[in-house]
Amino acid sequence: METIDLRALPLTDAFARRIDYLRISVTDKCNLRCIYCMPAQGLPWIEREQLLRFEEIERLVRIFAGLGVTKIRLSGGEPLVRRDLHRLVAMIRAIDGIVDIALSTNGILLEEQLPALMSAGLTRVNVSLDTLREDRFEALARRPGLDRVLSGIDAAVRAGAIPVKINCVAMRGRNDDEIEAFARYARERDVAVRFIELMPVRENLGLSADAYIGAEEILERIASIEVLQPITGPPGNGPARYFGFANGRGSIGVISPLSHDYCERCNRVRLTADGRLRLCLFGENHLDLKKALRAGESDERLRERVAAAMLVKPERHHLRIGEASSQMRAFSEIGG
Ligand code: SAM
Ligand code: SF4
Repeated sequence: METIDLRALPLTDAFARRIDYLRISVTDKCNLRCIYCMPAQGLPWIEREQLLRFEEIERLVRIFAGLGVTKIRLSGGEPLVRRDLHRLVAMIRAIDGIVDIALSTNGILLEEQLPALMSAGLTRVNVSLDTLREDRFEALARRPGLDRVLSGIDAAVRAGAIPVKINCVAMRGRNDDEIEAFARYARERDVAVRFIELMPVRENLGLSADAYIGAEEILERIASIEVLQPITGPPGNGPARYFGFANGRGSIGVISPLSHDYCERCNRVRLTADGRLRLCLFGENHLDLKKALRAGESDERLRERVAAAMLVKPERHHLRIGEASSQMRAFSEIGG
C-alpha cells in the first residue's frame, strides 16, 4: 500500500481542517488579574528555565512555517511583560512563509513598546478592554490602568496597526450596561470592538453561570441604538461575525466560542509558554515540544511529530455554560 508522507503536506487535521495559524504564549505571567481569567493571587508560575527561549520559539516557528503555517499570534499571560518581545518579533519576521504577526495584549505596556514592536515587523494588535470606566476597570482587572490601555489603543491606531481590534468580554451585571457605550466608542474610531462570550474556566466558575450573555442578545441591544449591517470584517484569523455602522468609522464583532461552528472552522493550534503544543483551546491533549527540542531531536523528527499530532486534534471542545469540567483551564485565547 502507498504511504503518505505527512511532512510533505500542509498541516491538516483528521476533520480536514487546514491548520495555518499558531498562537504562541510567550509567558504565563500577567500584570492584571481579570476576574474571569486569573485568581487574585496569581497562578503557580512556570519556572524560568522551563519557559521556551526566543531561539527555541524561532526554531519551532520555522518548522511550522515549513508545514504551511503563515500566521502567528503572540499572547500570554501578558506578552508585553516578557522582556524584549520586539526581538522575538524580528526573529519571526525573518522566517520565510510567515506573513502575519499579531499581538494580543491587555494594553498596559503597549504605548511604550509599540514603536519597537512595529519596526520589528508586528502587523496587527488586539487589545483587551472590558470597561471604559476607571472605577470598574479596577474591579474587573483587580489593578488600575484604564488610562494606559486607552493611550495604548490610540497609539496603535496612530501607528497604523489598523483596524485595532478590541476584545471585550461581556458579563451580565458587571459590564453589560456599557455595551452601548462600547458601540459608540467603535463608531467614532478606526477600531473593531469585538464582544466575546464569557467562557467557563476553572478560574471563574462562580461567575460564569449567571454572568454569561449570548452574542445575539448583545447584537439586539446595539441594534436598538445603532443601525448595524453585516460586513466581511477586517482581516484576521478568527471566527468573529462583524457588523458596520450605517454612519460611523469602526465596526462591531461578536465571538461565540461556545457555539460549535466555532470549532468547525478552527484553523489553529497553540504553543504554551513551557513548550507544549495544545491542539484545542481547552482539553489536556498536547505534545511536549520542549522536551523533544531539548532532547536534541532533528528538525525532520520534530516536523513528523507536529504533523502526526494534528491527527489527534479534537473535533470540538465540550464546554458548556456554567458547567465544571476537568478540561477547564484559562488557556482561553480567542481574540484572533
Ligand atoms: N493578556 C492578553 C490579553 O488580555 O489580551 C492576552 C492573553 S488573554 C488570555 C487573551 C484573551 O482571552 C483576552 O481577550 C481575554 O479577554 C480573553 N479571555 C480570557 N479568559 C476568558 C474567558 N474566561 N472567557 C472569554 N474570554 C476570555
Ligand atoms: Fe492577564 Fe489577559 Fe488574563 Fe486579563 S485576560 S488576567 S490581561 S492574561
